Amino acid sequence: MKAQPPASHFIDGEYVEDIDGAAFDSIYPATGEVIARLHAATPAIVEKAIAAAKRAQPEWAAMSPTARGRILKRAAEIMRERNRELSELETLDTGKPIQETIVADPTSGADAFEFFGGVAAAALNGDYIPLGGDFAFTKRVPLGVCVGIGAWNYPQQIACWKGAPALVAGNAMVFKPSENTPLGALKIAEILHEAGLPKGLYNVIQGDRATGPLLVNHKDVAKVSLTGSVETGRKVAGAAASSLKHVTMELGGKSPLIVFDDADLESAIGGAMLGNFYSTGQVCSNGTRVFVQKGIKDKFLSRLKERTEKIIIGDPMDEATQLGPMVSRAQLDKVFAYVEKGKAEGATLVTGGGIPNNVSAEGTYIQPTVFADVTDEMTICREEIFGPVMCVLDFDNEDEVITRANGTEFGLSAGVFTCDLTRAHRVVDQLEAGTLWINTYNLAPVEVPFGGSKQSGFGRENSLAALNHYTELKSVYVAMGKVEAPY
Ligand code: NAD
Repeated sequence: MKAQPPASHFIDGEYVEDIDGAAFDSIYPATGEVIARLHAATPAIVEKAIAAAKRAQPEWAAMSPTARGRILKRAAEIMRERNRELSELETLDTGKPIQETIVADPTSGADAFEFFGGVAAAALNGDYIPLGGDFAFTKRVPLGVCVGIGAWNYPQQIACWKGAPALVAGNAMVFKPSENTPLGALKIAEILHEAGLPKGLYNVIQGDRATGPLLVNHKDVAKVSLTGSVETGRKVAGAAASSLKHVTMELGGKSPLIVFDDADLESAIGGAMLGNFYSTGQVCSNGTRVFVQKGIKDKFLSRLKERTEKIIIGDPMDEATQLGPMVSRAQLDKVFAYVEKGKAEGATLVTGGGIPNNVSAEGTYIQPTVFADVTDEMTICREEIFGPVMCVLDFDNEDEVITRANGTEFGLSAGVFTCDLTRAHRVVDQLEAGTLWINTYNLAPVEVPFGGSKQSGFGRENSLAALNHYTELKSVYVAMGKVEAPY
């Protein structure tokens, strides 16, 4: 098999197998080919991983942040040296075109190791608080064993975005990738150990929604960081709350992208296409509700149609391919059901909606799809589709579009295209979202906090802000004189 790892799990610095765990196949979505056969973690594997993390963490936490950071920076270098190999694996795991994975997946994981490795020496300091003779100081201390649970759209990136801040802050991690994309995280674990990470600090175990709760409910786990759907987020946050664990929730969205009539039209269309078709639409922050001001609607739609129909769909390993398959048959069926719903509820199908004709019949492909005349009430406008389906809505004025853009339970992201600088700022100030863009869409560099509000979650990944979510403060009061007691 093309991508068979030595074993299903990576625990305490080595590959581990337990064939008592339910067997499952890893499938290459472009052809339906089985590329690896793995086993979900048994309770014994979960115990082994958490025990290894618990044992290794105190010594790691006692190292200087600079020494921990050095190992992460080395891991970043190895990832960059092996970018082609890692990108090919990511393409096999997800079906995303190599044209994307080579620039966006291992590289953004490496960015996280490089950034957190680099800031370690300065970002974990505490404060000195003068109290007029007496004083206090704070220490930023690690939480202990942290669990990361990943979605299937950016397997390597998610494994690194959670691992890098957790590790640099002195924690140990047990990471469970999505059952749809089990392979990338194992390579990240290998590379971290090659870079010098002591055994037991970054463990990967496989499994699905039955395995996740074993981690979330475990008494030795201090924190859970989930990337997944709102529905899963509610379950995981609920379970974590029963034992008061720290949580970070990176959940779904139905984000608005607003195009005013003074916008640079080609940039706005490019932003909308990137924000709907990149990774075959499987991006949480996608701007799937594209609000276009009425005066430019026809021009916008005709150029959008023209550019969308030129997208090259095909073999993800071909460097020319711009759009690959959906991650799985189940996800493809879900997206097709939304397309049918869009038609049935009266949206205008501008382009796409079918199966492309130049791809393997076993592949899980759908054409990039644009609906126009979408209204706020339609199902395709309210629910996260998580596929390459763009909804275009019309609007008249600024106040109206802000109210409608905010009329959703989600609050992950939002974008605005306009050449009016003051309007851009006025609008983003009023949009209810955690991550916003002006005159671009979906860029998420490691220096900038990333995360959602409302039902899209809480906590932040990336940037110095992420360190707050993997540490807690200890305050120490120091008395310089004698204790004066009234009794
Ligand atoms: P999902 O919610 O089905 O699964 C996510 C992960 O949670 C998987 O590893 C799954 O095995 C695990 N899981 C499921 N039930 C669980 C439970 N009860 N306890 C513990 N773990 C459990 O999501 P998905 O289909 O893999 O990914 C798509 C979703 O992820 C979309 O909603 C998307 O918007 C969201 N997402 C969010 C971000 C973000 O950063 N905000 C990024 C990528 C994807």
